[in-house]
This record gives sequence, structure tokens and C-alpha cells, in this order.
Amino acid sequence: MAGENLVTVSDQLLPWLTWLQEMGVDSLKKNKIKRQEGVSEASLIPFQPPPTLSNKGIEPSLTLTLPMVRDNLGECTRCKLSGTRTNIVFGSGSPTAKLMFVGEGPGADEDEQGLPFVGRAGQLLTKMIVAMGLSREEVYIANIVKCRPPNNRPPQTDEIESCQPFLIQQIAAIRPHIICALGTFAAQTLLNTKTRISDLRGIFHDFPHDTMSRIKVLPTFHPAYLLRNPPEKRKAWEDLQKIMRALKEDE
Ligand code: SF4
Repeated sequence: MAGENLVTVSDQLLPWLTWLQEMGVDSLKKNKIKRQEGVSEASLIPFQPPPTLSNKGIEPSLTLTLPMVRDNLGECTRCKLSGTRTNIVFGSGSPTAKLMFVGEGPGADEDEQGLPFVGRAGQLLTKMIVAMGLSREEVYIANIVKCRPPNNRPPQTDEIESCQPFLIQQIAAIRPHIICALGTFAAQTLLNTKTRISDLRGIFHDFPHDTMSRIKVLPTFHPAYLLRNPPEKRKAWEDLQKIMRALKEDE
């Protein structure tokens, strides 16, 4: 994948190849890329039979929109995190995204900018999204809590209970087909379970909400964990490939 094979690769393709290289994938050949010219980058990965998604027909809510949810949230002081935040990090991306990423909570960079996943972990998430053949503008990114917990501590139960209704409203407004839960905290909160991430990851789960159970939740490792544990990137990439196959099948 290195050397002359990269000479003709477009700028758009480079981040994807860089990510694959980090994943340990080293078998792409120049002629393979040429044969696939004009096809999305994601389709260069050999697809396995996709899992069945039964959420075809999920339509964006006709009654709830993201601006309405943001208005409902207002300058929120519903929990004590409001006292230490700089900005509410509501979420960003497409209001009709088929794929949504949900992390734990904002960090220092996110708190400063009011945007989700813009620090080092966010840059890795961006690489992951690009490697999937998507852009940040095509997906939606949010967190379990919208204000930064002091010193990046985990959100506490009362904080989650105060903030979660707004995440649920965001999901109801967007109606994604798949939610990729990033890390233990997001996975356990979204799936209402205490099961370990190692047992949850890489598997499609039903979103445990009455009217939205056709939405699938696939947990994977949090990008911050992947930065600390690079060998786990390969497992995360396998999880992302499952999502890619499911989205392709769902087209
Ligand atoms: S974390 Fe959520 S509930 Fe708490 S103050 Fe921020 S927006 Fe409000």
C-alpha cells in the first residue's frame, strides 16, 4: 500500500488508506483501486453477506425536528454539569443521517468549541468515518451528556437521567437506521445494560425503546480507547465494516 501505489491516489482517498494502514490492512493493490474507479471507497473492501436489518421504512419523525429539540433544551440547567461547562455540545451532522455515533460526553476541546468529537479522539473518529466512505456531514454525532463532566470524569446517574431525554428526542427526530455506540458508557446507557463492552461490541442490538426498536445499535470501542490501545483498532474496523455492509444492504 505504500510507495508508488499511492502516487495516483486522490486526496479524498488518502485518509481512508491511512486509516486502513493503521488497521493493519496491507493487501490493497493499485490495479484493484483502478478497477474500482468511480465506486465509493467503502466498496473497495470485500463485502461479506450483510446482516438483516428490519428497519427499512423508518421515516424521519414528522412531528419532531432537531431545532425543536434544541429549543426544548434551551440554556439547560437541569443538572449540575451546567455549572462547569463552557458550551452545551448538542450534536452535529445530518438531520436525516442513516448512521449516528454516540459517545460518552464532551471533553475540553468539545466544551470549548461547542462541537462533538473535535479533539484527538474526534480526529480519529473522523478518520473512521472517512474510512467507511462517509463524511461527518453525512452522519450525526452526539453524546450521552451534552455538558463536559469536570476533569473528564464519567457522567453520574442523575446527570444521565437529566440529559438522556434530549438524546432520545434527537434519535426520534433523526430516526437513524444504525447507532454506533462508542465505548462502554454509551453502549451500556443506550442498551440499558451493565454487560461489558467486550461482550456487546460487534453485535447489532435492538434499540430498547418501544417505538424505535427497529433501530439497530452496534457498540464498538471509543476512539479515545483506541488511541491508548492501537492493536484494538483492527476489531473496531471489523465493527465498522459490519455497519458498512448493513447500510449498503439497506440502500
Ligand atoms: S448535561 Fe444535559 S441535562 Fe445536564 S445541564 Fe447539560 S444539557 Fe442540561
